[in-house]
Amino acid sequence: MKIGIPKEIKPNENRVALVPSGAAALVSAGHQVVIETGAGAGAGFADELYVAAGAELAPAAAPVWDSADLVVKVKEPIEPEWSLLRPDLTVFTYFHFAANRRLTEAHLASGATCIAYETVQLPHGELPLLTPMSEVAGRLAVQEGAHYLEKLYGGRGVLLGGVPGVAPAKVVILGGGVVGTHAAKMAAGLGAQVTILDLSLDRLRHLADILPPNVQLLYSSRHAILEHIAQADLVIGGVLVTGAAAPKLIRREDLATMQPGAVIVDVAVDQGGCVETTHPTTHADPVYLVDGIVHYAVANMPGGVPRTSTLALTNATLPYALQLANKGWQTALRDNPALLKGLNVVAGHVTYPGIADAFGMAC
Ligand code: NAD
Repeated sequence: MKIGIPKEIKPNENRVALVPSGAAALVSAGHQVVIETGAGAGAGFADELYVAAGAELAPAAAPVWDSADLVVKVKEPIEPEWSLLRPDLTVFTYFHFAANRRLTEAHLASGATCIAYETVQLPHGELPLLTPMSEVAGRLAVQEGAHYLEKLYGGRGVLLGGVPGVAPAKVVILGGGVVGTHAAKMAAGLGAQVTILDLSLDRLRHLADILPPNVQLLYSSRHAILEHIAQADLVIGGVLVTGAAAPKLIRREDLATMQPGAVIVDVAVDQGGCVETTHPTTHADPVYLVDGIVHYAVANMPGGVPRTSTLALTNATLPYALQLANKGWQTALRDNPALLKGLNVVAGHVTYPGIADAFGMAC
């Protein structure tokens, strides 16, 4: 099969859908990989590495798309790419169709087969192609929080780990899922005093077994949240209610109870944020102040570390890309129920109930 890897053209997207070792794996399985010149540059993978892996370079996007049976990407095709879609093409990428009617309609009109990373789902409910990005965002949340706690950047001038004789910072994490767990590991590793609040007792029990003793695990209630944010230096928002906007666990009036210069990193911003005063920001302008509290709410945090994010993403996507290439999409989906869940659009029809519901379409 011919697999095309175009350069991502969404603003500030530096990830790439395939690393050179992935290209080598596809080539050694008998496939032809065509990658656009410079596609890996933003993540630190030079063209020569792909050539050494057996891939061919194409000087522009059109020849990549036109020659491919399967296009593997990172972000959804944006408008300039829509004319490159066609009925005999399979596209494997993040689509997030339910959030965008025009995007959905363009893909329906193209007749292309669209398999979405974000809805590939294992039998016990895990989303294996979203997990790596939550891991990155959770870990990065602590790094960014530590940075903005520095006085120069508006923070209260606190070092997360303290020093001998000075107490460490208090880090409060709302939600003990993938983001929360990875944030906790980082913050605890730096020596902070960490508290995770979650609604799931089973999750709290599991975390009690795997996290170090400087992580306290509490049931999430309004009372507990208020008590702990009042003492926090850094608050990390990592809650998710599947299929719904994030619950507003910190209200505007609660900010006055917090310590001036405390930092909130609201990772859940892509679901509206779990803090009432959150609005999405960018890597170019990541923070703002409300009532003396620093807010960091970058909606695509993994984009800030494209090399790590590319490696983490492609570790997870490559096995599925290989299945699609080796078997063709129909057999690959029949053989793998997790991958079948990724099928969102085929031959002008929506095949994923959540998308059909969002737009009142048949499924
Ligand atoms: P997850 O499902 O693994 O974890 C969410 C946790 O929130 C669960 O353990 C759940 O029990 C808990 N929760 C739900 N309601 C709660 C409440 N009221 N109080 C406390 N805990 C509650 O989700 P995740 O993968 O960790 O993702 C968390 C959020 O981060 C999602 O909104 C996700 O989209 C977002 N995210 C953002 C970025 C970014 O770049 N900003 C990157 C990755 C993920």
